[in-house]
Amino acid sequence: MNSYLLSNILHSYNLRVTDTRMQVLHVLIDSKTALCHHEIAKALQKYFIDKVTIYRTLNAFEKKGLIHKVANKDRNWQYAIYLKNKEKGEISSSHAHFVCDKCERIYCLPINGASQIPDVPCPGDFVVTEKELRLHGLCPECHKHNNLN
Ligand SMILES: [Zn+2]
Ligand SMILES: [Zn+2]
Repeated sequence: MNSYLLSNILHSYNLRVTDTRMQVLHVLIDSKTALCHHEIAKALQKYFIDKVTIYRTLNAFEKKGLIHKVANKDRNWQYAIYLKNKEKGEISSSHAHFVCDKCERIYCLPINGASQIPDVPCPGDFVVTEKELRLHGLCPECHKHNNLN
């Protein structure tokens, strides 16, 4: 993805365009899975961006609804771009996460309409702001590997 497209995406989310923001966005768009801060920093190593700047960039992206956070099993945050920004078709904020139990990578999966996540009746004072559906199993890579052994 070229910098013209990257800056266009930032513009459309009312985010000021900086080199760092384009670099972070590029890493997230390129990834098939959600990424933790460490993985993002590693991918950006050659640019010498400090940790705090990466955190701030991710927070700005999240606040504007460009990306979202998902907790992994160690309760650390991983970051993923909403799939609609990946030209893979529209996806609402309610979508499914597939967690591979072998490599522990998290994949965002589109759902046709948020209504496919069941409405769980909540008593009185509970306010639902987001619904998450989590699937566990083996990702394609681990599945393939499993069959070879
Ligand atoms: Zn896997
Ligand atoms: Zn997701």
